[in-house]
Amino acid sequence: MAESADIVTGATVSTVTGNIALVELINDLLPQTQCGQCGHQGCRPYAEAIATGESLNRCPPGGAATIRDLAALLGREVLPLDPEHGVESERRIASIREAECIGCTKCIQACPVDAILGAPKLMHTVITSECTGCDLCVEPCPVDCIDMLPVSAVTPATSDDEPHVRRQRSNYWRSRYEFREQRLVNVRAAQQARKQEVRNTMAPATGQLVPRVLEWLPPHEREAESVVDAAFPPPVSSAIVAKAVSCADLYSEGPVAANAVHPVAPPLDPDKARADIQAAVLRAKARKDALRRADET
Ligand code: SF4
Ligand code: SF4
Ligand code: SF4
Repeated sequence: MAESADIVTGATVSTVTGNIALVELINDLLPQTQCGQCGHQGCRPYAEAIATGESLNRCPPGGAATIRDLAALLGREVLPLDPEHGVESERRIASIREAECIGCTKCIQACPVDAILGAPKLMHTVITSECTGCDLCVEPCPVDCIDMLPVSAVTPATSDDEPHVRRQRSNYWRSRYEFREQRLVNVRAAQQARKQEVRNTMAPATGQLVPRVLEWLPPHEREAESVVDAAFPPPVSSAIVAKAVSCADLYSEGPVAANAVHPVAPPLDPDKARADIQAAVLRAKARKDALRRADET
């Protein structure tokens, strides 16, 4: 256990430092898919739980090899994988049936390692080489167009299960996950800053929608807001402030050029597209309900 000198609380610091070091060592042995099958919100929380005595056999992606490594590290008994948390199986990779994707972006939001590419109302696709097989994108998909395929069906035969390959892979997934977490922190901070900037721009002293705010709106909205501004002279209503703030969020990549082309192409037959999507959503819902009922019995 790591020692740390502290003249006031030496023993406490030593224990805390030692626990952190132990958690890191345990976390290093976990597969880093962040799938949550162990019952925790990711690999590090499970590592923290193991460090405080939780059973070490609850990680199906790691399977027997990870249990052996953890037992050796901690000097504990090697146990079989706890079936309540799943079974060990060939690694899988997500694959989107792209023709059926409605571009809702829910899978992107669920993916802990940014392995999905797409944009609102446009087709999404999985970057196969980055997918950890965590399964987290499947449940949120409203039209059930994501399949989990065995890795051998997607990529040529590999030495996938050799210890050094597993270790390299989990290190890489961990860095992807940590990068994403940091990215989300940065995005949230940037959104807050932008909201604040909008609020400052629209302070009572200004009393009206100023061009800087309008820059964040798409062209058709700019015109509408100008009309609203003319029709409802200062002070600006809280509804308009809210609208401007939400638009700033929506267009948080920055001001939209006046001649920007709307990126979403209209569907050829909107009624048919709507009906198709509705039917797919209902099918997906029925299937998920059936799976849920089967799980409960
Ligand atoms: S990979 Fe294992 S430790 Fe990590 S979240 Fe999934 S089950 Fe838990
Ligand atoms: S694409 Fe799906 S299965 Fe693959 S890492 Fe992302 S959420 Fe997990
Ligand atoms: S959740 Fe499904 S429908 Fe929505 S973007 Fe992802 S793959 Fe497409």
